[in-house]
Amino acid sequence: MVYNYILYIIARERKCGYMKVTLQNLTKVFPAKSKKAKDVIAVNDFDFVIEDGLLIGLLGPSGCGKSTALNLISGLQKPTSGKIFFGDDDVTNLPPENRGVGLVFQNYALYPHLTVLQNITFPLENRKGKDKLTKEVMVEMATEVAKLVQIDTLLDRKPAELSGGQQQRVAIARALVKKPKILLLDEPLSNLDARLRLQTREELRRIQKQTGITTIFVTHDQEEAMSISDMIVVMKEGVLHQIGKPQDVYENPIDLFVAKFLGTPPINVFDGYVKGGQLYIGDESVLDVSSIEDKEVDVAIRPEGFVVDENGRFTCNLNRIEVMGRDISVVASHEKSQNKDIRAIISAENMARLNQATVKFNLKPYKVYIFEKDSGKRIYF
Ligand code: ADP
Ligand code: MG
Repeated sequence: MVYNYILYIIARERKCGYMKVTLQNLTKVFPAKSKKAKDVIAVNDFDFVIEDGLLIGLLGPSGCGKSTALNLISGLQKPTSGKIFFGDDDVTNLPPENRGVGLVFQNYALYPHLTVLQNITFPLENRKGKDKLTKEVMVEMATEVAKLVQIDTLLDRKPAELSGGQQQRVAIARALVKKPKILLLDEPLSNLDARLRLQTREELRRIQKQTGITTIFVTHDQEEAMSISDMIVVMKEGVLHQIGKPQDVYENPIDLFVAKFLGTPPINVFDGYVKGGQLYIGDESVLDVSSIEDKEVDVAIRPEGFVVDENGRFTCNLNRIEVMGRDISVVASHEKSQNKDIRAIISAENMARLNQATVKFNLKPYKVYIFEKDSGKRIYF
């Protein structure tokens, strides 16, 4: 009861400090270090709003500019151009310590010689003048956040006496103790083993929901981002490709990069072409697409977009079947496939029909996406 009340108080206090984040033409260029090298545009004209109280997953492959984007928001790096607003305030020129952000990095960077309690109170120690806190108040505040991240029984230990997951919770508690308006997490789960990573990401989600702090969570792991984010921002080489609710982005990828980046197993991509209103893969016409003019295209099909059918229009070589409980994964191949293996997820009831060297599919049209060959842009039909 008392515990719930504390959470309620924290949530209520924090809700007053809910913060929307606006990025306006935000750009960061790292100039080339030599004549041969090129400038790197790590963040290229980011222009979007993060509504208050949401958890945003900033997602993209390694080197695409995620950390740079986060560092610009925290103030650790200065933008080349563009502006950042927290609420209505322009914070572009504010130093990081005046922005009211909490930061958590991949390597937890705890002080090894300090206890958990001292690590958490550390950011409160150097307050001056009227902001100075008494020891009792600091311990009270630290205990409150330690309860929130469920490490309140470990306060006397040193970091070396904690598991990786517990250390990361200390780092999160240390970021939360200042009651930040915005929480920024840079690949916070990457150092944890697979099970702890799953568990800790659920925890993060819970903590974010309970506190209501606007949170930006950076990861290269699409599954991680999809599972906990209210919105995801998919980026590549400094450029934002798509922003939206995870399910919407999954179901409606704007280009081939986004389609390929999201989904496990990954989407199946084929060389195809449109002729006379029919979509062809190899010499089979697999779908009616009357609104598209004749041209070569990339065809992407989600694993759940295949239906096994003896009269199906699309014939693939059947390599093997992997049973995963209720569903089975049909592993197939086709000379026009860009993936080595084609993976189709079908329900186990259809397994009886899979006893030949080939398998015939029909396609669910809403699970088939067609893209321009050169630009990768989606062609709608
Ligand atoms: P991510 O976090 O997505 O892996 P980063 O934001 O760290 O990507 O880097 C984006 C790009 O900017 C990369 O090409 C990287 O090499 C470059 N970069 C990052 N920091 C610097 C820096 N301080 N000086 C020069 N180039 C940098
Ligand atoms: Mg990074």
